[in-house]
Amino acid sequence: MLIINNRKDLQKWRLEQDNKTVGFVPTMGYLHEGHMSLVKSAKKSTELVVVSIFVNPLQFGANEDLNNYPKNLENDITICKSHGVDVIFTPNTNEIYSNGYPPKTKVNVELLGNHLCGAKRNGHFDGVCTVVTKLFNLVKPHKAFFGQKDIQQLRIIETMVKELNMPIDIIPCPTQRTHDGLALSSRNSYLSVAEERSALIVPKVLNHLVSLIKKGETDTNTLITDGISLISKTPNAKADYLEIVDYNTLQPVHTINGKIIIATAVFIGNTRLIDNIIWSD
Ligand code: AMP
Repeated sequence: MLIINNRKDLQKWRLEQDNKTVGFVPTMGYLHEGHMSLVKSAKKSTELVVVSIFVNPLQFGANEDLNNYPKNLENDITICKSHGVDVIFTPNTNEIYSNGYPPKTKVNVELLGNHLCGAKRNGHFDGVCTVVTKLFNLVKPHKAFFGQKDIQQLRIIETMVKELNMPIDIIPCPTQRTHDGLALSSRNSYLSVAEERSALIVPKVLNHLVSLIKKGETDTNTLITDGISLISKTPNAKADYLEIVDYNTLQPVHTINGKIIIATAVFIGNTRLIDNIIWSD
């Protein structure tokens, strides 16, 4: 496995792989089985797998956890090696933003970013789209793998690739969870033992709303009020948002109909966790 930390070496490596299919898994590191499910999917459908590890400052707001974001490069390298990754690309900020920070060029996908996390994290998805575009231009993958855990990110990247004619297949990968349902996340490492217990409300509330929908509830206001009330009764938990949106437009729906996403962000103590369920009737 190669570990590359600069653009020049990555581009040189890429040029040498002329006939091989390349799969790409962009990450912010502190890797876990959620990330590795993307790698496994990439290994199945492409000949070479590149994992990037880069904590992108452009997607963090002023009061967010950029400086505390968990890091363990040594462990990330071990995990990637054991999963047969071919290249880890681990650039620093100067390498990615070599023409100065913040960059003059940003990529914005309109409308899909005005609800859910986009409404709460100003500029977040512009930061994501900008860095993903830069990484795509360097890695030049045939396929790129994104987790459904970050469903708004996935939908925005799919749209960006389509509208900017990027010759890359975006492959969605299902959310990986602990045995009690909590979505795996690097940010789970911030949780105390008591907070870990409280965090289980996140998948529980999503599953509860699906069970109400299955019983015939179609009014999203009723569902959201019920969900928010469950979260507010949980120690250490505070809902940042709970929304029900159309899968394609990511705009809120009033009635359950067709393919929808129930998505939530919940503060557990100071840790903000996101999760979602895709539902279609
Ligand atoms: P991150 O390092 O958090 O930026 O995540 C990198 C990629 O891994 C993104 O495409 C995420 O959606 C995906 N990912 C993170 N956690 C999970 C999970 N629990 N299940 C599936 N994919 C995940």
